[in-house]
Amino acid sequence: MSIKLIVSYCFFLAALARPAGQSAAPQPDQSQGQIGYKSAAGADEKKTLLLKDFHPVSMLHAPAHNVDRAKYYVIDVHNHVNDAMRIDDHMAPRRVVEIMDNTNVKTVVILTGMWGDKLQQVIDEMVKPYPGRFIVFSQIDFSKIDDPNYSQEMVAQLDDTVARGARGLKQLKDLGLGVRDKSGKLIAIDDPRLDPIWEECGRLGIPVSIHSTDPEAFFRPVDNTNERYEELTEHPDWSFYGPEFPTKESLLAARDRMFAKHPHTTFVALHMANWPENLDYVSHLLDTLPNVMVEFGAREAELGRQPRRAREFFIKYQDRIMFGTDNGMDEAMYRNHFRWLETGDESFDYWGYPGQGRWEIYGMELPDSVLEKIYHKNAERIFGQFRGEALARGK
Ligand SMILES: [Zn+2]
Repeated sequence: MSIKLIVSYCFFLAALARPAGQSAAPQPDQSQGQIGYKSAAGADEKKTLLLKDFHPVSMLHAPAHNVDRAKYYVIDVHNHVNDAMRIDDHMAPRRVVEIMDNTNVKTVVILTGMWGDKLQQVIDEMVKPYPGRFIVFSQIDFSKIDDPNYSQEMVAQLDDTVARGARGLKQLKDLGLGVRDKSGKLIAIDDPRLDPIWEECGRLGIPVSIHSTDPEAFFRPVDNTNERYEELTEHPDWSFYGPEFPTKESLLAARDRMFAKHPHTTFVALHMANWPENLDYVSHLLDTLPNVMVEFGAREAELGRQPRRAREFFIKYQDRIMFGTDNGMDEAMYRNHFRWLETGDESFDYWGYPGQGRWEIYGMELPDSVLEKIYHKNAERIFGQFRGEALARGK
């Protein structure tokens, strides 16, 4: 391109970029069928398409690399398939195993196993018939919180669950946000009545996977500035905004005090410690407390929208992150996660889009050595800490 051509091309661009009010010559009226540069009169009033009906199709020509099977076998540490609480619809166990085989998922951790007979049902249906394919966690019974010897009762219950075959303890977000004693007071995450339970998990060498708080937007007003407006409109009970709820920060502080109080227990702070919007905070948590691990169940959207920062985080904390989904059981669901972790694909839908918010995600193209740790090595190390053999032999 000659200098002269470049100069005239630049003039053309400058004319295009000029704000409407500053045009050098009078602009033609668009209503006369000519192409103008001003917004149409009354354009704002015409923008009445409802958000729920807006389904733009991306015109981006970007390569899509579909990953049918994970590069290394996977341990999914956050699932609820065929659990004791019936969180998801029941699936034929053989179909579950087929999905796992098709995607290179070796083992699935069923977190919500409850205790007693309900736990036993999950063990009998999922764990025993498919050796090595399923791990089940138990839970604490909060209906007994007012019992005078609650701590000892729960330690005994925990021992029973381990004897039956449970290999971890799951704590739902109701601790801190919903569980109350008979006086109506919320039970704090660092309530001392729970200390003996966390200690017992450390003694047995089983991890405690704990869900505390929720996305930051759930603690903000549900209005037109809330990035999870549609999700909170669909699930108004997921909003924890208002004076009746503790703040997100105070709940996380209580959780982290509890982690620090039990250095011999391994805690898995679920959902990326439940603050993937603030990876500086998660970094600080992992730097300060070596007994804490994280996983990314249902947080692909949050991490995928900050690919550079997340990649840096995944590489720095490659020994502390485990693969978790918390998204049902589906081949396409797993493949979407593999694409995010393994490829450098740009601007694609996270699994469940637009459920958590209207943004796209970007692949992290993680190095092989990091992928292998996140897919299974870190989880194998944590489950390898099990020291409850005597209990397991007892039953
Ligand atoms: Zn979950």
